[in-house]
Amino acid sequence: MLLIPCPWCGARDEKEFENGGPARVPRPDPTAMTDEAWVDYLLIRPSHPGALRERWWHVHGCGQWFELWRDTVTHDFLDAPDER
Ligand SMILES: [Zn+2]
Repeated sequence: MLLIPCPWCGARDEKEFENGGPARVPRPDPTAMTDEAWVDYLLIRPSHPGALRERWWHVHGCGQWFELWRDTVTHDFLDAPDER
């Protein structure tokens, strides 16, 4: 079980959250790229071992979105959550 530190509610079970994917990924202009590149942007998320800043939604709790740094190998959260 993964405990996710919500900045408003404290550490809660991962079942209460939805992962919003990597945070702060620049949104490209869809009119300046091919359809294939746009689909790749929408559906393919970067995946690499190590620290990754992610967006989280406490959907079954306070309903807030926030960002966390998580080690994708150990699943440890690396800092205090940022409100977003
Ligand atoms: Zn919360």
